[in-house]
Amino acid sequence: EGLRGETKINLQPRQVPGFHYSPVQPTPVADPRLLAWSAELAAFLGLEQPPERGPAVDALAGNLIVDSMRPFAARYGGHQFGNWAGQLGDGRAMSLGELTAQDGTTWEIQLKGAGPTPYSRRADGRAVLRSSVREFLCSEAMHHLGVPTTRALSLVATGDTVVRDMFYNGNPQPEPGAIVARVAPTFVRFGNFQILAAHGETDNLRALADYVICHHFPDLGEPSAEVYLRWFAEVGRRTAVMVAQWMSVGFVHGVMNTDNMSILGLTIDYGPYGWLEPYEPDWTPNTTDFATHRYAFGQQPRVALWNLMQLAQALTPLVPDVQALRQGLDEYVTTLNTTRHQLMLRKLGLTEQATADDQALAATLLEALAAAAVDMTVFFRRLAHAAPALLAVDHNEETVFQEVLNAAAYPESNSAALLPWLRQYAQRLRQESAAPEAIRASMLAANPKYVLRNYLAQQAIEAAETGDLAPLNRLMEVLKTPFAEQPEHNELAAKRPEWAREKPGSATLSCSS
Ligand code: AMP
Ligand code: MG
Ligand code: MG
Repeated sequence: EGLRGETKINLQPRQVPGFHYSPVQPTPVADPRLLAWSAELAAFLGLEQPPERGPAVDALAGNLIVDSMRPFAARYGGHQFGNWAGQLGDGRAMSLGELTAQDGTTWEIQLKGAGPTPYSRRADGRAVLRSSVREFLCSEAMHHLGVPTTRALSLVATGDTVVRDMFYNGNPQPEPGAIVARVAPTFVRFGNFQILAAHGETDNLRALADYVICHHFPDLGEPSAEVYLRWFAEVGRRTAVMVAQWMSVGFVHGVMNTDNMSILGLTIDYGPYGWLEPYEPDWTPNTTDFATHRYAFGQQPRVALWNLMQLAQALTPLVPDVQALRQGLDEYVTTLNTTRHQLMLRKLGLTEQATADDQALAATLLEALAAAAVDMTVFFRRLAHAAPALLAVDHNEETVFQEVLNAAAYPESNSAALLPWLRQYAQRLRQESAAPEAIRASMLAANPKYVLRNYLAQQAIEAAETGDLAPLNRLMEVLKTPFAEQPEHNELAAKRPEWAREKPGSATLSCSS
C-alpha cells in the first residue's frame, strides 16, 4: 500500500508565484538501504531502528508514501553571496509531514535528495553519499556540542549513482547517491519571507509570518504590528546565540546565503562547512568563496547581521514603523557580544564577577590566536587540563605554557605569539576562588575534545564509499559526548595530520557539495 509506480505530477522546474509551497512526490530510487541511524533522536521521536531494508527504510528514501504524508517542497528565494538570486526553493528537499515527539512537540521530517521538485532549476534533486554523510554527521555533532541545529535521523543509500559536475577526486564521475532524513520544528528560512516580499505578495507574507509566530513563537502572543517587531527581535536574538556558538567551537558554515538562515536560529544546510584547525579568521572551506572569503570564519558575525537586514527589509510591508525594525538588529548585536563573551569566560574558567579587564583579556586572546594560528580545539582543551598546574604554588608557568602550545602547534604556527596572553591569563586565573579541580572540570565541560575535523569526516566518507561503515559509526558514537575524555578514541582528537592539509574534501569543498 502506498508504493507508487510512475509519478504523474508535473515537477518541471518553474516559477511558482502566489504560493508558499508545492505538493510534490519523491522519485523512487533503486534499492534503499539504511546506512546510519541516529538512535538518540529516534528515541526522542518515539521511533525504533528499522532493519537495513524494508518499508520504513523505503519511506526514508521516498519510495513509500503512506496516507498520512503530504510531501511538499517550499518556495523561497535568497541572496547568494550578497546578490539577490530570485526563486530558489527546496530543489532537492521535500518534507513528508510532521511527527509528534514523546514530549508533545512537533517535528518536520524532510528528505534531502529524494528527487526533483518545481524548485530544482537545472539540477537533479539528488544528493551524493559524501555530502549526505557530511550533513548526517555534522548535524548530530553540532547538537551534542549544544549548538542550535537541525537534526538528522537517517542516512539511506539509494542504490543509484549520481554525477556531480565538480572536481571531487579530479573529475566528474558517478558517485553513490544517498538521502538524509532531517528533522526540525520547521525548515522555514529568511528566504521564505524574502521571496514573498520581492513579489509584492503581502497577504502571503503576513500569512507566513502569522503561521510561524503562532506555531513556533507562541509566547509572543497574537500576531500584530507590535508582535512582528518583537518576533523579529527574537529571530535576531536566536541568530546571535547560534553564531556565538559557532565562533566558540570553530565552526564555519561556508554558505551563509539568506536561504540558508533558519527562522528559528538553527544551523541549517550542511554543505561546504568546515572546522577551524589552525585558528585563522580568514579561513573558509568553500572553494566557491576563495575569491572574496565572504563566508570565512571571522566574517560570520557580520554576515548574519547583513542577512538579518535582508529579513528586516522583507518584513517592512508588515510594520508601519519601519525604523523600529532596528531594535531587532540591535538585539542581534547585543546578544552576540554578550553571548560570545559569556562563552569565552566559560572556556577560560573565569566565573568571578566579570570585569572590563576580562573583555580586554578575551579580545587579546582572539588577536593572539590569530597571530599564533595554533589548533583551536587542542589549544582550549589543553588549557583546561593545564589550569590546576597554573594554579599550583610550585608550578613552573613557562613549562606549562610550552606544553599547551606544543600540543596545539602546526609546523607553520607562531605559537610564541600566545605567550604574553598566557602570562596575563595565568595571573587572572589565580583570582578565581574555586578549587583547581573544579575549575578544570568546568573548563573541560566548555571546551570539546572531539569536533568533526574535516579530515575525519572525509575518512568516514571514503570508507563508506567502499562499504565500510565502521569509521562513520565510530565518529557518530564519539561525537555524542564531545566533552568526555574517551581515551580509547584519543586519535580522533589529534590535530590535523600534515597529509590532510590540502587534500580536497579534507580541507576544501565546493558549494555543490
Ligand atoms: P544551497 O547552496 O545548498 O543552499 O542550494 C541552493 C539552491 O540550490 C537551493 O534552492 C537548493 O535546493 C538547490 N539545489 C542544490 N543542489 C541541488 C540539486 N542537486 N538538485 C536540485 N536543486 C539543488
Ligand atoms: Mg540551501
Ligand atoms: Mg546545500
